[in-house]
Amino acid sequence: MTKQTLLRVENLHTEFRTLFGVVKAVRGISFEISPGETIGIVGESGCGKSVTGLSILNLIPNPPGLITQGSIWWEKEDLLKIPRKQWLDIRGNKISMIFQDPMSSLNPVLTIRTQMKEILQYHTQKTAVEIEAECISLLNKVRIRKPKEVLSQYPHQLSGGMRQRIMIAIAIACHPDLIIADEPTTSLDVTVQAQMIDLLRDIQVRTNTAILLITHNLAVVAGMCQRVLVFYAGKIVEDSAIDDLFAHPLHPYTMGLLKAVPRLTSLDEEPLATIPGSPPDLIALPTGCTFHPRCQFAMQICAIEEPTLQTVKGRKVACWLYDPRNPGRLAE
Ligand code: SF4
Repeated sequence: MTKQTLLRVENLHTEFRTLFGVVKAVRGISFEISPGETIGIVGESGCGKSVTGLSILNLIPNPPGLITQGSIWWEKEDLLKIPRKQWLDIRGNKISMIFQDPMSSLNPVLTIRTQMKEILQYHTQKTAVEIEAECISLLNKVRIRKPKEVLSQYPHQLSGGMRQRIMIAIAIACHPDLIIADEPTTSLDVTVQAQMIDLLRDIQVRTNTAILLITHNLAVVAGMCQRVLVFYAGKIVEDSAIDDLFAHPLHPYTMGLLKAVPRLTSLDEEPLATIPGSPPDLIALPTGCTFHPRCQFAMQICAIEEPTLQTVKGRKVACWLYDPRNPGRLAE
């Protein structure tokens, strides 16, 4: 691991053993994140984005889930090999997570004060008075008005946007080095979404926290991330700097995702572009490239052998169109 690497995921495989067969949710993911970096993970539902986030924090329910291969390096330690007790020092303290639905993440029968205090009591040596002051300061940081009042309220008394701010306040309470934000804006309306993105960006600039942003919303990625990992059927199919990805996507799936983004300049009668077909069944994946049944560029080799990530013009892409082993590849 280089000095500047905060987290390195290597060849991660996570699966779920169900009555219907083995769901191969994550199939050999590798990536690194540096301090202060924001990486976006994008892709359709069921492509392994959230499972990757949960795997990093060892939150995969077992059974039926199981991490079958790989390593997750953090401070020279493989998180998949550390004892259970050590996780208590990492989760919420060094790595924290913001979940998609704050209503199901916050405890409905506890006040916001109790839920915020818990994490500070566990991870810090602060006195009760200091913890109360810290809770107020955290609510101020996430721009909640009347923080003293809010601390005495229950989650159902707050709006969706306020609950998400509370989740962010809890996530940053112990100054983590990495925040995994899993669809943090999905359940919010567009105006509140923009406020949340602004807030996360602001927190990152002030604290140099790295963020792994899991989303299906390319606009959110464009507004926040420096790098993007495009996931398809449990694999990374493109790993690129944000500007390159939007200016010149390489993988046909990325091209499809970008074309499917609604634009203000589109004519009313112009139909919204879609990617034909549907994501593959993760129990019975297609042979070869898992995108081949939906790909307009598919060649003979695509249905036979799965492409691996190759470096093309400083980016990484898994597609036979660019693979040097394919004589019919596109010229670089
Ligand atoms: Fe399409 Fe073949 Fe590339 Fe897969 S490998 S995305 S099928 S061109």
